[in-house]
Amino acid sequence: MATVGHRLISLRHFQSSVSDKVPKFEEDFIPEGWSRDQVDLDCSEFKQKSQKEVIDDVIDKIIHEEAEMGIKQESFNGADNVERAKRECQIDPKPCKLRSYEMYKNRTAQDIKSTRSHKQINYIASMMKEPTHAPEERTIGPNEVIITVALYHPSKLLKQQEFQVLGSQSLTALRDRLYCLADYLMDGQQTKSGFFLIENTFYNDMRLPENMDYSKFISDWVNDKSRFTIPSVGMFSSKRMEDTTFLDLTIKIGQPYLYVHQGSCEHNIVFTEARLATPMDVQTYSSYPRHIFQAKIRRRKCKICDIFPARYVTYQDRMATEDPFFFCEHCYRPLHYDFEGRVLYNDFEVFPYYHE
Ligand SMILES: [Zn+2]
Ligand SMILES: [Zn+2]
Repeated sequence: MATVGHRLISLRHFQSSVSDKVPKFEEDFIPEGWSRDQVDLDCSEFKQKSQKEVIDDVIDKIIHEEAEMGIKQESFNGADNVERAKRECQIDPKPCKLRSYEMYKNRTAQDIKSTRSHKQINYIASMMKEPTHAPEERTIGPNEVIITVALYHPSKLLKQQEFQVLGSQSLTALRDRLYCLADYLMDGQQTKSGFFLIENTFYNDMRLPENMDYSKFISDWVNDKSRFTIPSVGMFSSKRMEDTTFLDLTIKIGQPYLYVHQGSCEHNIVFTEARLATPMDVQTYSSYPRHIFQAKIRRRKCKICDIFPARYVTYQDRMATEDPFFFCEHCYRPLHYDFEGRVLYNDFEVFPYYHE
């Protein structure tokens, strides 16, 4: 079902060509020669062993092992051996219960307060918040195509995130889940323009009236002086991202395509897999795009206390021993402001710092 290679595939054509060829999925898991009844096990026949049964099993095991080593079996009778067996099997009185959940339910007001303050320290978590799902959920269709897309770092060749998207979803559904720090710097949260460039077609996000068509500048340059006749340039077309679903795309698996936002922040995006959905996949429609990979985010620590994460970075700071220098909230203020809150010197540059 999975398609890997460097040939162009139309995802809609892929869906129609494979959906009628897929055998019944469950049948794949039935071993040859078995009937369906033999596979559908009735789980109600399974029951938890009692404590006595577990101890008996361990005593049998010890007797068996030591008999093999040549020790007489008579020495295993008596209360001492039951105690020994108890120690060996280390029976958990609540083997199937999540104790941390019970602790969570019984937490005190003080516990709740300390949890909240801990979340505030991890300010990146709020930027990468997952959307909450409505209680009534529709499920994915029978011939839904699941496509896996990876987002790369703008300057390093590192995979940052990976998502599973549905063929019937629009490109904007994926775009809204991509995380890049540039969206949070300066007026980044107000600048929503961006495009995907896939097989010489620009897909512009034009959902907001103030959004800019970034591709226009490139298309104009290509059309000027008939640059499209140059073989390495070629012709470009443009569409709206919100009106295009993944099934409308024609892609190459493994080929880096472009995602541009915030004017000049350029990322590679790579389609790593396209396949039909199976019963093993998450069936809730709103769970997609599914965040299936996140690279570790590196945050520098304050270079003074070496305890708290840095919140400011300074350049040409005469009180700093290195350039640039990283400060936490607690160390930055005493070094740069007096008791009345006046800045001590201002011949340096300072910027908020989030992560690498
Ligand atoms: Zn970016
Ligand atoms: Zn510090």
